[in-house]
Amino acid sequence: PSEFQGKHVTVAGLGVSGLPAAKALHARGAIVTAVNDGDDARAREQAAELEALGITVRLGDGATLPEGTELIVTAPGWQPGKPLFRAAEEAGVPVWGDVELAWRLRGPDAAPWLAVTGTNGKTTTVQMLASILKAAGLRTAAVGNIGVSLLDAVLGDEQYDVLAVELSSYQLHWAPSLRAHSGAVLNLAPDHLDWHGSMDAYAADKGRIYEGNKVACVYNVADPRTEDLVREADVEEGCRAVGFTLQAPAVSQLGVVDGILVDRAFVENRQKNAQELAEVSDVDPPAPHNIANALAAAALARSYGVPAQAVRDGLRAFKPDAHRIAHVADVDGVAYVDDSKATNTHAAEASLAAYEPIVWIAGGLAKGAEFDELVANSAKRLRGVVLIGADRALIREALARHAPEVPVVDLDRTDTGAMLQAVTEAKRLAQQGDTVLLAPACASMDMFTNYNQRGDAFAAAVRELGA
Ligand code: ADP
Repeated sequence: PSEFQGKHVTVAGLGVSGLPAAKALHARGAIVTAVNDGDDARAREQAAELEALGITVRLGDGATLPEGTELIVTAPGWQPGKPLFRAAEEAGVPVWGDVELAWRLRGPDAAPWLAVTGTNGKTTTVQMLASILKAAGLRTAAVGNIGVSLLDAVLGDEQYDVLAVELSSYQLHWAPSLRAHSGAVLNLAPDHLDWHGSMDAYAADKGRIYEGNKVACVYNVADPRTEDLVREADVEEGCRAVGFTLQAPAVSQLGVVDGILVDRAFVENRQKNAQELAEVSDVDPPAPHNIANALAAAALARSYGVPAQAVRDGLRAFKPDAHRIAHVADVDGVAYVDDSKATNTHAAEASLAAYEPIVWIAGGLAKGAEFDELVANSAKRLRGVVLIGADRALIREALARHAPEVPVVDLDRTDTGAMLQAVTEAKRLAQQGDTVLLAPACASMDMFTNYNQRGDAFAAAVRELGA
């Protein structure tokens, strides 16, 4: 019998992870109660699906701990400070996330995990990694925070040799016993601090990805805090710290030499002290931060024994997802680039660093961010700026402080149609050879359903302009 037979388990939060968690536990004999804060149409639909299986569902009450609960399996986004968890702590009830559940159910048996976290670049890196692993002939999938629940991946019928796993800081927070083959923290910048409580707590949750690693802890040489996290982690004997850098690599690092990605950590031929992997031009787009993503993906793949040739083939086969530095069109000698996914200042700074001169379209929901550093570091690249969205004043003020000479068009609009006007204004500011870059540094929900819709609106406006 399974360890869950007859056990009272509360599943907190329906949705992407809650549904498969409730079903998996129910199938293993647990007595499941699913609780959810909201009771909107979608929640009702999911509740009906679970109730049909004989699972108890409580909608509109995610705060009270159901009587007799022995374990909580929570959706990753639920904040540790919630009353439900305080009650659980008082009652000595453990709390797992869906990732923890997947790991306990059959993590290591299903396939080893190559795990990626970081403030920005996770999805891109995991997709590059999956592409590389596939090029090596391995059965794999990009799973986790990327929209494919880990539970579905490890419990499904598909057989995998190795998994490329994206983990958010929330998922890591709730996954205390996870032990990856190798893990990587791409970078660390302030984000989601309201959830974690502090930068230290956020970093500590990210750092869990290294706990118990078997082969390699991959860190970013340019972001020393990621290396600190490796040092603080408890890993298996023989597990190595492997850095990635945009510079020439030291021993035990991957880096770049004369436009070539070079591996000095996993060298195949003992006679040589470096292994050439691919060319910078094999990476799409070849922006600096994206080369860093490619190096991190290569490091994880190499830690699993993937040959150099597969790294090159996999990177060449990789195509970035929509709205991540996507080249939309050239109109009258000006390039239009959609990086709607740049929803925080760290991401926007990376994409601004890849172009010059830029007409920058920015603004939206700031989520408590400060813009001084971003603006100061990017000022010299800016031809002009067009501001949209609810919190645009914060960016306008930072521009006044650090780039007073850059022309700014402040569109006092938060309606969806504002994007066409923004693009029109940007076109007016741009000169031949410039790039008009949508890198909002903000979330989109003040004007759009999500960053996809924002990027689509940008692309539609560009097409209208070009027509
Ligand atoms: P995540 O899954 O972490 O949100 P994505 O791969 O979806 O990351 O990229 C999100 C955005 O972050 C991109 O549109 C780009 O602006 C930026 N970005 C991607 N990689 C990096 C990186 N290594 N460093 C900084 N910013 C990055």
